[in-house]
Amino acid sequence: MRTTTGWQAAGPSRMRRTSLRRRDLRADDIALRVDFCGVCHTDLHALSDHEQHTEAPLVPGHEFTGVVTGTGRGVTAFSVGDPVAVGNIVDSCGVCAMCEAGQENFCHSFPTLTYGGTDRQDGSTTLGGYSREYVVREAFAYPLPAGLDPAAAAPLMCAGITVWEPLRALGVGPGTRVGVVGLGGLGHLAVKMAVALGATTTVISRTRDKSDDARELGAHDLIASSDTRRMGAARDTFDVVLDTVSVPHDLAPCLQLVAMDGTLSLLGYLGPVTVEAMHLLVGRKKLSSGGSGGRPATAEMLRFCADNGITADVEVLPSSQVDTAIDRLRRNDVRYRFVLDLSDLD
Ligand code: ZN
Repeated sequence: MRTTTGWQAAGPSRMRRTSLRRRDLRADDIALRVDFCGVCHTDLHALSDHEQHTEAPLVPGHEFTGVVTGTGRGVTAFSVGDPVAVGNIVDSCGVCAMCEAGQENFCHSFPTLTYGGTDRQDGSTTLGGYSREYVVREAFAYPLPAGLDPAAAAPLMCAGITVWEPLRALGVGPGTRVGVVGLGGLGHLAVKMAVALGATTTVISRTRDKSDDARELGAHDLIASSDTRRMGAARDTFDVVLDTVSVPHDLAPCLQLVAMDGTLSLLGYLGPVTVEAMHLLVGRKKLSSGGSGGRPATAEMLRFCADNGITADVEVLPSSQVDTAIDRLRRNDVRYRFVLDLSDLD
């Protein structure tokens, strides 16, 4: 076993610095020094749900970048010193129809999550990237393209891929009319990617407060959802609406924006929803969802971001301030993603 240092849950909003173990490298494993790890809404939910002393330790973190420090004897894609990125899936069965299709995120026997998952070989609980070292199968690590800032690229690995896959799957390209509901970690990357794909992109936000931010991100317009006149005028005008709001909310106003045969994709809130069938019937509208991405789409997303200079807008904090990052994210007090700098764990 290898030993490293990380941050372990000690309460819903409190982390404790701890020593933790990583497995010895299997033939197809790489070890990496984690330099930067994004703080995702999923981490907040995991911390809230985690029961102290009754479960395996919780070390969050599933969007990180770093440098390869070791390779198993069968590794071919990486060498020591390579910049590398890891997202929220670290293994899958590899043989089901979804895995065959390159959609490991939908693996029929459930993909192995980067933290809080169960290792497919030894049954141990996976511990995440709020730590200085991670060990992962090379197939679920991605070369970090040159030119992408490693801190600002970390959130691409969860927030980024989660919006990229639906944008691609729904055929967004030049001329597509895209609406992005909510301008947070997911939403701001959705705007940047949709704009770079050539879509006419509009942000739908509660108020007009974020108009300047939306424009700086490249959005063509912002509609305040409180503005009933503009919401009415925008009825049936978006081919694709990506809903990135992370709390329960009424879907009717979002569906009303969708054009005939268009799609509303739920990406932020993944609990039960209520939909009036009539709101789908009128205009043959489609309701969809998605989360994370498969290996091919993840690699494609990183190349696209490198080619188009896309990274997240981040606030980097030393990992010793992880509690601050968690508190402020709970209050939505970040534009748009916290990233922990783990170099203080040395
Ligand atoms: Zn995440």
